[in-house]
Amino acid sequence: MTRTRAPVTGIAPARRRTFQRRLLSWYRRHRRDLPWRRTRNPYHILVSEIMLQQTQVDRVVPKYREWLARYPSLEALARAGAREVREAWYPLGYNIRPVRLRDIARAAIRHHSGKIPSTREDLLALRGIGPYTAGAVLSFAYRKDAPILDTNVRRVLRRIFLGDRAAPSDKLLWSLSEALLPRGNAYDFNQALMDFGATVCSARRPRCPGCPLSRQCVSYPLADASAARSGGLGA
Ligand code: SF4
Repeated sequence: MTRTRAPVTGIAPARRRTFQRRLLSWYRRHRRDLPWRRTRNPYHILVSEIMLQQTQVDRVVPKYREWLARYPSLEALARAGAREVREAWYPLGYNIRPVRLRDIARAAIRHHSGKIPSTREDLLALRGIGPYTAGAVLSFAYRKDAPILDTNVRRVLRRIFLGDRAAPSDKLLWSLSEALLPRGNAYDFNQALMDFGATVCSARRPRCPGCPLSRQCVSYPLADASAARSGGLGA
C-alpha cells in the first residue's frame, strides 16, 4: 500500500482528531494496569518514572511497591543516606538514580515547600529530571497539557507520521508530540502512546496486521512485521 507523507508540521486537524480518537479508543480497551496509575501523588509518580528509566516495567513494579513501603514520603527519603538508598534500589542498577532521587527529595523540602515542583522550569532545574520526566510529572501527577517523548513515543510518532527509516530530530518529535496532544486529556493520551509503543508498535515486533492506527501510519506495513502476530487488536 502506498501512502502520502503528510508534512510533519501543520498536521491537518481531521487527521489529528482521528489519530487521537483511535489511539484513545484502543487505550480504553487495552491499557496496562500499573500501580503508579492508581495514584496522583507526584512523589510516587516521580519514583516510578525514575525507576522506569532504563528498566523494564515488570522489574519496576515490585521494587516500586517495596521502595514506597520503605520511603512513603519525600521526608522519609530525604533522611536516608546515599549507601542506604543504593542498597534499597538493588537490583535495578544505574545506581546514580536512587541518590539523585534522594537529592530531589532534599531539594523539594528545602526549596519547594516539601513538594515536587509543578512547573517545567522548576522540574528541569532538579538534577536527574530531564525533559521526558518533567513532561511525565506534569501530565501524570499535575494533569497539565504537557507532551512527553521517550523511546516508545519517539518510535511510534516517527513510524506513523514520518516513516520507519526517517531520522528526525528530537526537536521535531517534541513539536509533534505537543501538536497531537488533546487539550485537557494529556494523562490518557500520553499513557496511551507509551502503552501502544510497548505492546503494539514495538521496536522488534510491530503488530502491523490488525493495528488500530494502520490507516494513519505512513510506515504500514513494516517489512519486519510479517512475523508479527495478526489480528486481535481491533480498530
Ligand atoms: S501499522 Fe505497524 S508501524 Fe504503523 S503504528 Fe501500527 S504497528 Fe506501528
